[in-house]
Amino acid sequence: MSRGLVWFRNDLRLADNPAWAAATSSHRRVAALFVVDPALWRPGTPRTAQLAAHLAALDGALAERGGRLLVRRGDPARVVPAEAGGAVLHLNADVTPYAARRDGAVLGAVAGSVVMEGRWVHAPGTVLSGAGEPYRVFTPFHRSWAARPRDPWPEPGEAEVEDDPGEGVPGAGAPLMAGGEDAALERLGDFLGRVDGYGEDRDRPDRDTTSRLSADLKYGTIAARRVADEVGDGTPGRRALVRQLAWRDFYAQVLAAHPHTVDRALRPEYGAIAWRDDPGGLAAWQEGRTGYPIVDAAMRQLAAEGWIHNRPRMIAASFLVKDLLIDWRLGERWFRRLLVDGDVAQNVGNWQWVAGTGADAAPYFRIFNPVTQGRRFDPDGDYVRRWVPELADAPAGWIHAPWTAGPLEAAAAGVVLGDTYPAPIVDHAEARESALAAYGAAREQAAGA
Ligand SMILES: Cc1cc2nc3c(=O)[nH]c(=O)nc-3n(C[C@H](O)[C@H](O)[C@H](O)COP(=O)(O)OP(=O)(O)OC[C@H]3O[C@@H](n4cnc5c(N)ncnc54)[C@H](O)[C@@H]3O)c2cc1C
Repeated sequence: MSRGLVWFRNDLRLADNPAWAAATSSHRRVAALFVVDPALWRPGTPRTAQLAAHLAALDGALAERGGRLLVRRGDPARVVPAEAGGAVLHLNADVTPYAARRDGAVLGAVAGSVVMEGRWVHAPGTVLSGAGEPYRVFTPFHRSWAARPRDPWPEPGEAEVEDDPGEGVPGAGAPLMAGGEDAALERLGDFLGRVDGYGEDRDRPDRDTTSRLSADLKYGTIAARRVADEVGDGTPGRRALVRQLAWRDFYAQVLAAHPHTVDRALRPEYGAIAWRDDPGGLAAWQEGRTGYPIVDAAMRQLAAEGWIHNRPRMIAASFLVKDLLIDWRLGERWFRRLLVDGDVAQNVGNWQWVAGTGADAAPYFRIFNPVTQGRRFDPDGDYVRRWVPELADAPAGWIHAPWTAGPLEAAAAGVVLGDTYPAPIVDHAEARESALAAYGAAREQAAGA
C-alpha cells in the first residue's frame, strides 16, 4: 500500500525507531501523527513542557525531510482512525493499562495495523524464565536479559513525508532541557565522558554523575538500545549503567504481566497495610518541610526541577511510606505528576520496591534511616545546602540532623529549629517501630486469611 501513518507516542525520534523504519521502508508516502490526548496533556507540568519541546524538535527533524508533524487534539480512539483513512497504521507498543485500552480501541478500528517494539532493549514478554514465565526477581531476569540476542529492527526507507502540520505543536511552558533527539545524543555524548566513574559515584546526589537521560528514555528521543550500545561494557561504570537499563525493562515487563499492580500491591500479603490518613504529614512531605534535610532537599528539587537523583528518590519515598506510614500510591501519584521522567511502569515499580510490596522489593523490615543515608551519600552536605538554603551555613557534622546541634552552633549557622527550619515531624526510631508493626499485622492478617 502506498500510504503509511506513523502514530508517535513515547518514541519521538526518527533514528532507531522500528515503527518509523517499517513505515518509511514499505510505503511511498507517510504521515507522522501525534495526538494531543487531553487525558495526558498537562500544560505547566515539567513532563508536558518537556514533551512539547521534544515534539517541536521532531517537527523540525521532519521538516528537514520536507514534511511536518501532523498534530491533532482529541481522544486517540476517535482521532487516529479518522486520520488513518485507507493508510496502514504503524506504531510502537506501550505497556500501561491506559495504553492497552487506548491502543486496543484504535487497533480494533484500523484493520491491518503494524505494531512494533521500540521502547526497550528487550520487549516485555521476550525475556522469560526457563518455565516460560515473566520474571519477578531481577538478578535472574538480568542474566537472561544480558544473554538474549536482540530482535532485529528494520532499516528506514526514503518515503516522502506529508507536510500538513494540523493544529501545530502546542506550547506547554519552559522545558527542563533542550528537546529532541539531537539534544538527547548530546546528553549521551556528555555522559560518555563521565560514564567510567558511574559505578563508584552513581549514588552521590551531590555530584553530577548520572546520565540524566531518563526524560529522553521516557519520551524515546533516544532508543534504550542505542544508549546500551554506545555505553558498552568495557568498564564497571559502563556495565553498571547498562544494568540500570535492564531495571527499566524489568519494571516494564512486570507491569505488562501484572497490570493490576498499577495501583495494587504485587505481593498480596501487603495488600491490607493500615496506612495512616495524615494530610498534614503528606503536605509536609510534598512541600519539603519534614525536618529531615535530605528528604526536604529531594522534595524541593522535585518541585523546582521536576527531577531527583535516584538515591534521594529512594530516601524520600521510604520516608513517606515507612516513617509517615502513608500509602505509597499517594507518593507515586505526586512523583508522577511532577517528575519530568514520570512514567507509570518505572514509577510504580520503584515505589512498590521501596514500599516492599512489589517485584524483588526491599524486604519490609529494611527501613532507610534518613540521617545515616544522608551522611553516607551526601557526606559534606552539599546536596542539602543546594536545596535547603536555611541550612546553607550548617557544617557537615550536623547538617543531616540539625536537632543534634548545640544552641551556640545552631545560632552560629543561623538555624533556629521550628523557626528557620522545621523540627522533625516524626521521631525516626519510633516511626520505624510503628511501620514494622503495621507491616507485621498485614502479613499476619494475610497468613490467617
Ligand atoms: C520512588 C522512585 C520513583 C521513580 N520514578 C521514576 C519514573 O517515574 N521514571 C523513571 O524513568 N525513573 C524513575 N525512577 C528510577 C530512577 O530514579 C531514575 O530513572 C533515575 O534517577 C533517572 O536519572 P538518570 O537518567 O540520571 O539515571 P541513570 O542513573 O543515568 O540511569 C540511566 C537510565 O537507567 C534507567 N534507570 C535508572 N535507575 C532506574 C531504576 N531504579 N528503575 C528503572 N529504571 C532505572 C533510567 O531510564 C535512567 O535514565 C524512580 C526511582 C524511585 C526510587
